[in-house]
Amino acid sequence: MTRHRVLLASPRSYCAGVVRAIQAVEQALEQYGAPIYVRHEIVHNKYVVQTLEKKGAIFVERTEEVPEGSIVMFSAHGVAPTVHAEAAERNLATIDATCPLVTKVHKEAIRYAREDYDILLIGHEGHEEVIGTSGEAPNHITLVDGPADVANVEVRDESKVVWLSQTTLSVDETMETVDALKTKFPNLLSPPSDDICYATQNRQTAVKKLAEDAQLVIVVGSRNSSNSKRMVEVALGAGANAAYLVDFADEIDETWLEGVTTVGLTSGASVPDVLVDGVLEWLAAHGYADVETVKTADESITFSLPKELRRDLHTGTHAS
Ligand code: SF4
Repeated sequence: MTRHRVLLASPRSYCAGVVRAIQAVEQALEQYGAPIYVRHEIVHNKYVVQTLEKKGAIFVERTEEVPEGSIVMFSAHGVAPTVHAEAAERNLATIDATCPLVTKVHKEAIRYAREDYDILLIGHEGHEEVIGTSGEAPNHITLVDGPADVANVEVRDESKVVWLSQTTLSVDETMETVDALKTKFPNLLSPPSDDICYATQNRQTAVKKLAEDAQLVIVVGSRNSSNSKRMVEVALGAGANAAYLVDFADEIDETWLEGVTTVGLTSGASVPDVLVDGVLEWLAAHGYADVETVKTADESITFSLPKELRRDLHTGTHAS
């Protein structure tokens, strides 16, 4: 009898930045009471957003939607300095849940802009993180949205150019973009350390490993999650016959399983593992009960809560 199995990626699901951001909303609700306004989805996951809404978080897209004098939290993707200024104008108490690994890229942008570099920011146009990082130095940053965009890039001084990137890109595609930029600008400077974060890199390495043996790869994640979408592309690039992104198990189409003996399963960095468990149950009910974990890295990194919450936890005062 043909063996039907599931290869389950490890690491998968929540990264340290997402754990911190979700805990920050929960802690703020406990500390200050509902409602807590959150500018943009705290992390790009439908289930997480719906769960926090039920607890009293209100998600808004623009600062002006937050009533004057309320508490607003900035999402893990980071915001531009203009957003901090808007919040101050409306007399909002702010809690910044920007992932420290995104803050690191903001600081690099500020430093290189101060040194008057042209900064080529590799990232996806319109993504919240890219908008936030670009806002740190709008006159110095040019967005480069993939290798095909390189031909359009112009700089003021070819001897003073540096590239930075969004944290959740495809590692391989980013290196292709960098190679094309280096051909065009031989003196291009690289950032001091990787901007694509450890969680994105680890999840892509794991999905590549799955794709060696799985005919079908299922990635649990939302459609607006950059790192989840990249994992589907990486799986296809690494040899999977098919790869799909689903928010929930009930989005899986039984026809995807035709002729498939091995299913690879993983999830994006903003996905709670309970959703992966739901897919495992669905697969077990369809004859894929045999699960093997494929481990490609250990993750032990954690981040402490945003400083505003830590400070008020100590003093028992209100956010400001
Ligand atoms: S995916 Fe990376 S950059 Fe984004 S929140 Fe997680 S650790 Fe931070």
